[in-house]
Amino acid sequence: MKFNTKLIHGNARLDGTGATNTPVYLSNAYAHTSAEKLEKIFQGKDMGYAYTRISNPTVTSFERRIASIENGMVATSASSGMSAIYLAVMNMVESGDEIVSSSGLYGGTYTLMRNLKSIGVKVHFLENINPDTLKSVINKKTKLVFAETIGNPRLDVLDIGAVSKFCKDNNIVLIIDSTMTTPYLIKPLEYGADIVIHSTSKYINGTSNSIGGIIVDSGSSKYTDPRYENFLPYTKKYGKMAFTAKLKDTIGRDVGPALSPFNAFLNLTGVETLSLRMKEHCKNALGIAKYLSNNDKIVDVNYPGLESSRYYDLAQKYYKNGSGGILTFRLGSKENAFKFLNNLKLILDLTNIGDTKSIIIHPSSTICSNNTDEEKRQMGVYEDLLRLSVGIEDVEDIIADIDSALKEL
Ligand SMILES: *Cc1c(COP(=O)(O)O)cnc(C)c1O
Repeated sequence: MKFNTKLIHGNARLDGTGATNTPVYLSNAYAHTSAEKLEKIFQGKDMGYAYTRISNPTVTSFERRIASIENGMVATSASSGMSAIYLAVMNMVESGDEIVSSSGLYGGTYTLMRNLKSIGVKVHFLENINPDTLKSVINKKTKLVFAETIGNPRLDVLDIGAVSKFCKDNNIVLIIDSTMTTPYLIKPLEYGADIVIHSTSKYINGTSNSIGGIIVDSGSSKYTDPRYENFLPYTKKYGKMAFTAKLKDTIGRDVGPALSPFNAFLNLTGVETLSLRMKEHCKNALGIAKYLSNNDKIVDVNYPGLESSRYYDLAQKYYKNGSGGILTFRLGSKENAFKFLNNLKLILDLTNIGDTKSIIIHPSSTICSNNTDEEKRQMGVYEDLLRLSVGIEDVEDIIADIDSALKEL
């Protein structure tokens, strides 16, 4: 199947009633015909469901769909994007281990990484992640490299080909957060990433009606490297399924952040229109970025699809279908930024991205308020910076709203 067909039919498992949508199985537990059968399900020797914290038919359906779309082997969902990132990272590290991460991160991920110090895990943040900078910080204790495809909100474009080649040559697992770009724009596993994560709360769901996250496992063979000796029982028993098998057997079960079956249903519905939405998000974002770069009240516009962006060449190389739906711009002062926000009528001032609606926020005072000044600098967050998640309204109406808010400054 090609991409758009997969969004609608990929890896479908229907229930036999003829229902065209996966039903919502709102049942915590499942009865079986014999004690022997339930024993086998618990041992993983038979297919079937036991308890919805572990697995659920609607949730499985969503996981299978995303695995298909990302060309992954298997996917595991979680109750939020943050819990997906937490599970994936904690599946890899123990006290004494090290991580290398791009500093162009979502605020919550930055603090998650920073807080790993409390369990004795050291994180090296790289402002410019590439083979040279990576080489200077990796060692035998490095368990993973983490980066976002396009950083939120720094909008730095990862050279995913170069970074994944480095990770392959050194047998280090590469985990990519592709929330900002979605499989419509890039499939990180095709470039050699081992794990791809989404906050499905954003573009995958598409209309912001449910929080969720997903971890897609490529089925990497890196876990047989001596670096990953704690994976040994899993590589022996499950081969290329080692990462997911360990996840389900340890941290996944310990923490239990199950995606609600109802949210899985909403995500399954939302993802069907991913291509149509992303195409419009990208087109509108480019139009607005061009408009803003011609307005003298704007100090700086950052959008990887603009020729003036330092990431333009990388964006052209990896993002042939568009440069995403997010842009940032600076207004000279926090006072101007707040005035502008208060002048807007159509664009909503709130914390979210990837909705059909246009959304704006002042990151420094909100989503990054838990970050220190030095962290904000590394994340590309300035006092006068606004982040706009461009919706799929008619672009003329979005521009008119921006235009009138700017005129009042
Ligand atoms: C929103 C977001 C997250 C966190 O996802 P939640 O579903 O809000 O927990 C992680 N990474 C990126 C890039 C995000 O935009």
